[in-house]
Amino acid sequence: MDTLLKTHNKLEFLHPLHGFVEKTSGLSPSKPHSHELKFVPKKPNLKLGKNFSLKAKSSALLELVPETKKENLDFELPMYDPSKGLVVDLAIVGGGPAGLAVAQQVSAAGLSVCSIDPSPKLIWPNNYGVWVDEFEAMDLLDCLDTTWSGAVVFVNEKSTKNLGRPYGRVNRRQLKSRMMQKCILNGVKFHQAKVIKVIHEESKSLLICNDGVTIQAAVVLDATGFSRCLVQYDKPYNPGYQVAYGILAEVEEHPFDVNKMVFMDWRDSHLDNNRELKERNSRIPTFLYAMPFSSNRIFLEETSLVARPGLSMEDIQERMEARLRHLGIKVKSIEEDEHCVIPMGGPLPVLPQRVVGIGGTAGMVHPSTGYMVARTLAAAPIVADSIVRYLGSEKSIFGNDLSAEVWKNLWPIERRRQREFFCFGMDILLKLDLEGTRRFFDAFFDLEPRYWHGFLSSRLFLPELLFFGLSLFSHASNTCRIEIMGKGTLPLVRMINNLVQDRE
Ligand SMILES: Cc1cc2nc3c(=O)[nH]c(=O)nc-3n(C[C@H](O)[C@H](O)[C@H](O)COP(=O)(O)OP(=O)(O)OC[C@H]3O[C@@H](n4cnc5c(N)ncnc54)[C@H](O)[C@@H]3O)c2cc1C
Repeated sequence: MDTLLKTHNKLEFLHPLHGFVEKTSGLSPSKPHSHELKFVPKKPNLKLGKNFSLKAKSSALLELVPETKKENLDFELPMYDPSKGLVVDLAIVGGGPAGLAVAQQVSAAGLSVCSIDPSPKLIWPNNYGVWVDEFEAMDLLDCLDTTWSGAVVFVNEKSTKNLGRPYGRVNRRQLKSRMMQKCILNGVKFHQAKVIKVIHEESKSLLICNDGVTIQAAVVLDATGFSRCLVQYDKPYNPGYQVAYGILAEVEEHPFDVNKMVFMDWRDSHLDNNRELKERNSRIPTFLYAMPFSSNRIFLEETSLVARPGLSMEDIQERMEARLRHLGIKVKSIEEDEHCVIPMGGPLPVLPQRVVGIGGTAGMVHPSTGYMVARTLAAAPIVADSIVRYLGSEKSIFGNDLSAEVWKNLWPIERRRQREFFCFGMDILLKLDLEGTRRFFDAFFDLEPRYWHGFLSSRLFLPELLFFGLSLFSHASNTCRIEIMGKGTLPLVRMINNLVQDRE
């Protein structure tokens, strides 16, 4: 197994504080109460020849994994000039989808914005999938590179659900280029560094970067994803973890219809010859998520929907190899691989607080699914508008008061209640074994589309969510109902308690 995998599995993962991903990140994930950050050294990733890791890998599949490719966009970036000592209106820490979406919109209103990221030109590493209607609603269809007219769910060997909802893969290069171009056009300045500390004064904040530069800003937005760099939490951080291993591969052939993406494949007959693995999978199941691009090019991802603690990457890879072997998928080469660890649920950050947040850092991942991109891009105008409104022409409020208004708009009571319900969903999923999970999704995807679409895309709010719950219950088999009642009672009480306690 290569060094990279060991890094994730053993060091970050088995002792998850709030976990995060990525080959590219060297940040310590912890420090929930401090403003100051710690850095951990990157593990050496020795190279063999041009494209392959030297470390012996335990499987033929992993032998094919290429050395991490870091591809940059070809842009001339206007850089922030620290010598001028200007106070910018907004400093955004983190140039992922969340940070750039806000940068683009606040700068369009004429405010000065500085975007800080250690690799501002890097094409985002994650392979994002979204429902096409979500991107259509934001006029972002040109940022999908492949779409499928529908999706399929294999509940078990005998039952398949065809979902008539188009799905798409985000063209990361296109989406980032589009946002960067707008930022550049609107005068956003970039600073290539990591922020290590923030100091707040009454009407401005000082961001200290790891290159010694200090950036002053009226408002600071933390958009650092799951590294949760500056935003503070005051409750124990206890998320579930979605863990997945994905490969974009050239294969000899695969059995899937290229017109449909595979949203979930819960079949487990590939484990019939391995009792131990089958037993593990029946306790904490994983499914295959696949995007077939052609008859011989496909993205395959073995995924643990949610578990606490998260499954180890080795376990997931072992299950994936068994599955591919069983499906007769022979991998010829791997273009890229993806190690995915998404913290789901857990508490929201302290509301309000001086640093504002968006995206992974601000609790915006869907607690029952792990999806976030579409929801965050849709929320960016809300954050941007409130910053512009309060900071704009009148400069009527500033400091803590301004941040409080932004947080209020990002997490109004309806959204907090919605999230509470999604966390309830996650709590039930955490308790289901393979059979229970199958029964759950069997009922879920039989719901009227407005219910399951709305649930997955965060479009249902509390009253509708209650109808969604009742409808799910009525579609469920008797065994599933008993299971939901048995395993859901405690989470239900917890949810009601949290709902009662959380007021405007
Ligand atoms: C592998 C993977 C696959 C995913 N797939 C999907 C999907 O298919 N669909 C979906 O909806 N969601 C998906 N998600 C969940 C979520 O949408 C992504 O994590 C998304 O990238 C989060 O966006 P973000 O902008 O909040 O953070 P990120 O994309 O993580 O960006 C954070 C940025 O902040 C920078 N940064 C970190 N620390 C500092 C610092 N101290 N100073 C300056 N900059 C810093 C990082 O370098 C990075 O550029 C996936 C997540 C992962 C990990």
